[in-house]
Amino acid sequence: MNNNAEYNKTMNDQTVRMESIDKRTSNNGDKTGKVCNKCGKAFARVNDIYREDFLEINKDWGFFSVKDGKTYRFAICEDCCESLVKSFVVPVEVSDTTELV
Ligand SMILES: [Zn+2]
Repeated sequence: MNNNAEYNKTMNDQTVRMESIDKRTSNNGDKTGKVCNKCGKAFARVNDIYREDFLEINKDWGFFSVKDGKTYRFAICEDCCESLVKSFVVPVEVSDTTELV
């Protein structure tokens, strides 16, 4: 009886935790706009058009990953991208964009 009550409590805690993670990681931004997943800053936008650029990742993890079948989706602001890039052991390749769209 006690074990069962403890089990149910644990399951409820896990359910609550899963829901809050889902809300926190939801970043499709249709109505509220996208935010930087790293610092939480909302990306500037006017009339649903973003007025600042950001890095957006949409990664389907594959067969040779422990996350096989999962998709990671997140966005990072330019400042957070720069601090991330500066932490790299191997520098990123940077080139001039020849064609502006
Ligand atoms: Zn950021």
